[in-house]
Amino acid sequence: MSALHLHCKMLFDSTSLTPRTQQTLIAENGVLTYVGPTAQAPTPQPGDTLVDASEHFVMPGLVDVHTHLAFGNAQSEEDIDLWTSDEFRALRGMFFAQHVLAAGVTSMVCPGDSGQLSISVRNAINAGLFDGPRVAASSRVITNRQSLNDWFPSRVGAPEFFTARLVTSRSEAIAEIRTQAKDGVDLIKIAMDGTHRRPDGSIIAAFTADETKEMVEEAHRLGCKVATHAYGREAVLYAAKAGVDLVFHAFYMDDDCIEALLDAGSILAPTMTFPQNTVDFCQPHDPAVTTGYAGYCARTLEVGSAVLRRAKAAGVPFACGSDSGFAVTPYGEWHARELELLVKRIGFTPAEALYAATNVGARCMPKGDTLGSLAVGKQADFLVLDSSPLDDIRVLQDRSRFKAVYKAGQPVNLSRSPYNPKQVSDFNSLKWTDLYTRDRVAQLGKWTV
Ligand SMILES: [Zn+2]
Repeated sequence: MSALHLHCKMLFDSTSLTPRTQQTLIAENGVLTYVGPTAQAPTPQPGDTLVDASEHFVMPGLVDVHTHLAFGNAQSEEDIDLWTSDEFRALRGMFFAQHVLAAGVTSMVCPGDSGQLSISVRNAINAGLFDGPRVAASSRVITNRQSLNDWFPSRVGAPEFFTARLVTSRSEAIAEIRTQAKDGVDLIKIAMDGTHRRPDGSIIAAFTADETKEMVEEAHRLGCKVATHAYGREAVLYAAKAGVDLVFHAFYMDDDCIEALLDAGSILAPTMTFPQNTVDFCQPHDPAVTTGYAGYCARTLEVGSAVLRRAKAAGVPFACGSDSGFAVTPYGEWHARELELLVKRIGFTPAEALYAATNVGARCMPKGDTLGSLAVGKQADFLVLDSSPLDDIRVLQDRSRFKAVYKAGQPVNLSRSPYNPKQVSDFNSLKWTDLYTRDRVAQLGKWTV
């Protein structure tokens, strides 16, 4: 089979933080066989594909460790769980996986999903049925009454088709983990806390330390990684002490948590994009603003940035996640904003942010040791940009800067077909957002006595 020869001006290979100039990549059957100085590169053979990127910057494809393929750019929890069938969600998830890839995300972790959606999307892509990024698949989020994902009233519970699996005992949690492992997940997602607080305002962990340990041990025994939603101190501490692989958010953790994360070797993905987009983009009429949620997001980012800076200084490895799949984080749009936030809020250098979004993120993927950096024996997943994100990290958010995206040595189609958002999500039956009392209507000038 013919090889791909690509000669670039600057290479950030993500094996270290130092870029190198005048480099050549050679890939055969999707795997890198040479990465090094152009001057010493093997000569191309007849039939090889030559790519001239001599004016361009090359880096590994991005890894987004927090994308919800089931959510469909949801405006509400009802959008997430109620209105759409599993079948529609799977088709929609497949479509949007392609938008994610076209944004330069060659690998994504899908933590928390409905049914076997991300398992199916992963398998369809791996079988060659559709183009798409590499997928680390999960299933329904393991949830109890104190978990975020039990967001409907208690009497509703969590029917089979929801994105949460509400467990009421240790044995139910273990049974669910075994089922998901049998179905072929790569990781188990546990919602370690939610909105339930004590009178003093502290966030309550949804599971006890022992329960957490038991779930994580069982998931690991079955060969699955574990990711957790954890905002508060208790949740992060229990998760880290149980040895989870990936912790999301951690905005309200403390220094004990940082120490436990270091001991466990857990990866931290704060996923600041979701709250930052909520703060920056929501309009006055959005319920996120009228209910005070956007204000909460702003405070969370302020409090969280301080402790996250300490975690970085202590040496906790960071990965990049966007929480794509909500209306404020549509697929394919904001995956690279997390790198900008690591730089602006947490004090990462651009090179450190690139390393987080590639090398560290790849450790959360199946066969992660073949991904996330550009070296001999690794998959040829890379981006070709016409300017350097080391000079301005925001170029990764500018599609016009993408000259090409390669997955397994093959160029990705970067053009995506448009879609009608009203036929994709937002099936809410909401018909009025105001209360039309006679006073209110008079105020609006629509009625007088
Ligand atoms: Zn999430």
